Amino acid sequence: MLSVVPRPVTVRAPAKVNLHLAVGDLRPDGYHELTTVFQALSLTDQVEIFPAKELTIRVRGEGARDVPTDRGNLVWKAATRLAHLAGREPAVEIAIDKSIPVAGGMAGGSADAAATLLGLNALWHLELSRTELAALALELGSDVPFALHGATAIGTGRGEKLLPVLSRNTFHWVIAFAKGGLSTPDVFRELDRLRGAGQPPRIGDAEKLMQSLAAGDARQLAGLLGNDLQAAALSLKPELRRTLRAGITAGALAGIVSGSGPTCAFLCETSDAAIEVSAELAGAGVCRSLRVATGPAPGARVVDADASG
Ligand code: ATP
Repeated sequence: MLSVVPRPVTVRAPAKVNLHLAVGDLRPDGYHELTTVFQALSLTDQVEIFPAKELTIRVRGEGARDVPTDRGNLVWKAATRLAHLAGREPAVEIAIDKSIPVAGGMAGGSADAAATLLGLNALWHLELSRTELAALALELGSDVPFALHGATAIGTGRGEKLLPVLSRNTFHWVIAFAKGGLSTPDVFRELDRLRGAGQPPRIGDAEKLMQSLAAGDARQLAGLLGNDLQAAALSLKPELRRTLRAGITAGALAGIVSGSGPTCAFLCETSDAAIEVSAELAGAGVCRSLRVATGPAPGARVVDADASG
């Protein structure tokens, strides 16, 4: 009898940068009301899923040492939830190849979880729609639906109610990885503390920023980037001020802390400018490592799968 061993499925999922992140007051459920414009970047994690006897996770690449390989990994939760829904055992080995900085404010764990949902949907031939996968993604975390969606989108609620945003042109980014990470809950707590002390000012609405995206105008966009969490991230990691200043000195149009940080993202006018800014920043020694990336990029996508059906 001929038995077909399914081939592994390989999925890539993008990092995100928040072009606009407005944080409202603390809600009674412990979350903050957010309005955020996300852009997915060409910086991606790769997740490979192999049929196996039981669920195991392997991690290599950027920051792998700091990523749990047990149920603490968001990928574990994604696999067990989807297996439960499909009425089967999560009998797979999942190999994560990280390029997105861990605890960097770029939603790397969310990207891996989105990749896992998409990969298992393909491996197990579940044929769940994008909408069904997005509902499952939301159960795993507020940033997981966007990692599936990709491109540019505006999120409200906890950041999870997504609507696509028209974005013309490709934007060029330099991403500066910091030494060490920042815990997202710590950064929100610090923001509450700063606000309790009467500072800092809040960013406005996202209307003008969305117009600049629709126009594909990087210069205009640069003046409109805003992140309410930036003051809190800078308060916890004051050395990031130097990084942000160095990026502007090196010729970036603007620099911003990505999400809860500590990664900094610099918007540049052209790809050549991005390469130059990256080289200058490397020389200035103000960060751990640098990547050049473009956005918007697609959401999680299968790049290799068993075609035998
Ligand atoms: P956030 O989405 O909260 O902004 P982040 O981008 O700052 O997150 P992540 O890299 O997603 O940070 O990870 C935050 C924490 O989650 C890490 O410190 C790590 O211990 C844990 N974690 C769980 N699963 C993963 C994963 N697959 N990749 C990276 N970290 C993970």
